[in-house]
Amino acid sequence: MKIEQALSPNYTKGRKGKKIIAIVNHITAGLMPGTLSWMRNPVAKASAHYLVTRDGKVIQMVNDSDTAWHAGFVNRPSWKLYDGTNPNAYTLGIEHENIGGGLLTEVQYEATLWLHKYLIDKYNIPVDRNHIIGHFEIDAINRPNDPGSYFPWERLIADLKEDEEMIYKTYNDVPDWGKPIVKKLMDRKTIVGDGKGNINLPESTLKTLVYLEREKVLK
Ligand SMILES: [Zn+2]
Repeated sequence: MKIEQALSPNYTKGRKGKKIIAIVNHITAGLMPGTLSWMRNPVAKASAHYLVTRDGKVIQMVNDSDTAWHAGFVNRPSWKLYDGTNPNAYTLGIEHENIGGGLLTEVQYEATLWLHKYLIDKYNIPVDRNHIIGHFEIDAINRPNDPGSYFPWERLIADLKEDEEMIYKTYNDVPDWGKPIVKKLMDRKTIVGDGKGNINLPESTLKTLVYLEREKVLK
């Protein structure tokens, strides 16, 4: 999937040294193309990092490393990770073109699922409702229906969890491309496991091992 660029001037450079810890989901007030031009209009003083359209396009408006203006006003927040400072500095904002009440088209759902996965992997964001939130959890007074009651929270979290890292429990679970290096390290007792035959090797570790071997870092 590709991310289209349509940058907005509505942002603050940098993130005041803060780390991205969460994704805030929104629903737009209007439809394309008006909603995109509005968020790129300096008069709006509003933006988000991404806009996911009804026809499944992902458009980047603000770079991740900069602060978009999507959730700066805090009113009766229920978000557990709110730290008392402007949430824009430590969140990513995703707008969804509105088809009504947070309902998404199927291609729009697939596009936002893809975008969530991409950002979760990139910034190591845990998959749960404290780290993937809605605007209403930051501003319950002026944004109670943002992204709306039909927003597919359960489906999204379930699909994202399904995609969480694969752990290879035993040697037999290791895919063929990883077996040679795992065998070598088990023979050498570098990988010992729990003594009951379980090695519980995360996929990312296996990929690193294969990479290091290919680069001849591991002798
Ligand atoms: Zn919003």
